[in-house]
Amino acid sequence: MPTPPDLRDARDAPGPVLEDGQTVAVGSRKFRVVVSARRRRIGLTVERDGSLVLRVPENCAAERAETFLRKSDGWLADKLGRREEHPPAHPVREIREGETFGYLGRTYRLEAGDGGKGQAPVRLVAGRLVVDKTVLRDPADARRALIGWYRTSGRRWARGRLQPWAGRMEVREPDVVVRDVGNRWGTYRPGEDGHGTMALHWALFQLPAHLVDYVIAHELAHIRISGHEADYWALLRQAMPECGERKEELDDLGRRLWLGHVGERE
Ligand SMILES: [Zn+2]
Repeated sequence: MPTPPDLRDARDAPGPVLEDGQTVAVGSRKFRVVVSARRRRIGLTVERDGSLVLRVPENCAAERAETFLRKSDGWLADKLGRREEHPPAHPVREIREGETFGYLGRTYRLEAGDGGKGQAPVRLVAGRLVVDKTVLRDPADARRALIGWYRTSGRRWARGRLQPWAGRMEVREPDVVVRDVGNRWGTYRPGEDGHGTMALHWALFQLPAHLVDYVIAHELAHIRISGHEADYWALLRQAMPECGERKEELDDLGRRLWLGHVGERE
């Protein structure tokens, strides 16, 4: 029986096939390969640490990837050039009384408090970010508690935020987790029954709401379309016409966002 053409395209491609974790070199550039079963197209990302990641579908011919990389070279040179002009500058912070921390675009002054029974170690009280004195004594404890607070508050907020975008894109609302998503601001993983999970970086919640909305909408659009080609952006733009401006603003502010690095007290 003849193989359907789409399967034949992927499986019978001539030459070697890319494997997860391998490195591909084109010219002086090296790309780490990430194979994804649900991906159909090739994608390229510059990670926050400046490394290059090539995202490919299963059984992707090395030759196809090389052609893609050669075609992407202008885009990549431009992106890396801009990165050099504005390198990331994530600050090192101290978590102590008087310092300020952002949440959804507002700034809150940290205040040492006495923890009551059953109270969370970090809480927003009358416009102040109150952190238990016991937690503040140790930078690692303080960091863990503060990040935990971003995760809990951020998740609660984000879950109530999905509806308008999910409605406009006609996708089912996924579960939301807030954690350290490494070099990205968000990810989307489909579940086995079609009910997937969106992960958002906790640090994102320091930014104004409209930028968190951008990441939420960005990941929701991936429920329908993986990769970042023209049809993906068309879908996102339909739901969020100003997505281009928001992406630029996120790129700009995101480079200077606190990612949890804490310094010693002098
Ligand atoms: Zn994306």
